[in-house]
Amino acid sequence: MRKLNSHELIIATHNRRKLQEFEAILAPHSITTRCAADLNLQLPLETEPTFVGNARIKAHFVAKQTQLPAIADDSGMMVEDLDNQPGVYTADWAETPHGRDYVKAMTKIWELLEQKKAPHPRKAKFCSTICIAWPDGHDEIFNGYVEGNIVWPMRGTIGFGFDPIFIPDGHQQTFGEMPEEVKNLISHRALSLQKFAENCLDD
Ligand code: IMP
Repeated sequence: MRKLNSHELIIATHNRRKLQEFEAILAPHSITTRCAADLNLQLPLETEPTFVGNARIKAHFVAKQTQLPAIADDSGMMVEDLDNQPGVYTADWAETPHGRDYVKAMTKIWELLEQKKAPHPRKAKFCSTICIAWPDGHDEIFNGYVEGNIVWPMRGTIGFGFDPIFIPDGHQQTFGEMPEEVKNLISHRALSLQKFAENCLDD
C-alpha cells in the first residue's frame, strides 16, 4: 500500500457539499487540500458502470493534470426492492433541464417504493468508493458504506442530495437532520476516508 508522502492533496470534485465533508474528515490529518474548481479544472465525464471505475477516472485525470496526488469519491444510493437502482447513476436521478432537483428525485424513489408496495422498513445503503491516484499512474481504492432506512416525508435541511430521506441504522435522525459532525463520523464517505487515512497517512 502506497503512503501519501506529501501534505498536499487535490480533491477531484466540483460538489461543494462533498468537498466540505472531505475537508472536515481530513482536517485532523494536517493535509492541505485544494479542489478541482480552485485549479479551474473541468472533470471528465463519468462513463464507467461502477463506483470504482468512475472514482478512478476523476482521480487519475486530476493527478495527471496537476502532477500531484489526487483523491476522488464516487458515491450513490442502493435501495432495496427497486428494480432500477440509483447506484452509480444516483446523481442522474436528480437531473432536469434546469439543473439537479433532489426533491423530485427523492419523491420518485418514494413513489416507486409505494407502487411496488415495498415492505417497511424500506432499506437502503449509501456507498462511497475513494480512489487516490498519483501522477505516475499508481492508485489505491477504499470503500465505505452505511445501511439504513428510507423515510417519508423528507426531514431536515442539513447536508445534500438524498440526505433528508435516509436514516442510518442505530439513529433516529435523517442525515438531513443530523449535525455535520455526527454524519462525518458515520457516513459512507467518512468510512472510506477513514480507511484511506489509516492506510495512506502516517499520523
Ligand atoms: P457522484 O459521486 O458525483 O457521481 O454523485 C453521487 C450522488 O449520490 C450525489 O449527487 C448525491 O445525489 C448522492 N450522494 C452521495 N453521497 C451522498 C450523501 O452523503 N448524502 C446524500 N446524497 C449523496
